[in-house]
Amino acid sequence: MSKNYCPRCGSLALSSHDGNQYCCEQCDFELFRNAAAAVGVVLVHQQHILLVKRSKAPKAGMWDLPGGFVNPGETAEQALFRECQEELAFELNCPLRYLGAWPNLYAYKALEYPTLDIFYTVTLASRPNLTADKTEVQDITWVSTAQCGALDMAFTSGGQAIAAYLKRPQ
Ligand SMILES: [Zn+2]
Repeated sequence: MSKNYCPRCGSLALSSHDGNQYCCEQCDFELFRNAAAAVGVVLVHQQHILLVKRSKAPKAGMWDLPGGFVNPGETAEQALFRECQEELAFELNCPLRYLGAWPNLYAYKALEYPTLDIFYTVTLASRPNLTADKTEVQDITWVSTAQCGALDMAFTSGGQAIAAYLKRPQ
């Protein structure tokens, strides 16, 4: 079994049987590798879904749904409001409908973070004015619901959220 350095005592004595729970043979420290929470939104206007093209790694240049990681202490809804504001200067002040949550792997700088991505959908009465924060989003597009099934998305969870939106009773 491969050993890792213990974050408490520094010994090369941290190991795991299942990849989720790690124990240190030297100091008895236990480390749990849990999924990080993230949020995303299927924003819909007249049979079109908003997609954002990622500026940053991982998956730079690929299409994604607006969203991001949940900060400690935030509700999922607060995280989504904040992310829409940060990425798109968009005030998400309409009712959210829960779509579902899917696990994902977020590979960043040689570490793979397991996440649980929580998705909502919002139906907009008008197409909003959006201003992309270019450090996060290099492009924005509205894709017709007929075409979005064929898109190669940055993360499988985003594709699953769109599929769930398309399958749900309208
Ligand atoms: Zn230790």
